[in-house]
Amino acid sequence: MHTAVHRSTSPKRILIADDEPHIRRILQTVLEMAGFEVDLRRDGTDALEAVRSSEHYDLILLDIMMPGATGLEVLGKIRSMDERKSTPVVILTAKGQDADRQAAFSLGADDFLTKPFSPKKLLARIHEIIDRD
Ligand SMILES: [Mg+2]
Repeated sequence: MHTAVHRSTSPKRILIADDEPHIRRILQTVLEMAGFEVDLRRDGTDALEAVRSSEHYDLILLDIMMPGATGLEVLGKIRSMDERKSTPVVILTAKGQDADRQAAFSLGADDFLTKPFSPKKLLARIHEIIDRD
């Protein structure tokens, strides 16, 4: 497991939206062990609520297939908001079709990973994105 390295004084915050409880648990464990703070959301409606709130997120991780709103709809909303349009978004989905990948990137996703995912690879991608600036 990756050792947490804090480059700034406060931990980076990641919004996670996935309707599968076991995926949320895995993501929470992996990301918290890597030193991130997580905000877990259970569906698209809950994710949109988080996105519209004044919470700060350094990165947003979205499942595509969720009740309420899809991850792609949430991504579209994020990119339309002045306050959030430059927040990195990673799509993590079991729906790994090419059309979804293309849609995600054309809506402004920073990365697209398919389930089942390797926690090590996910962390590497997240660090790459968060530390790039
Ligand atoms: Mg889902």
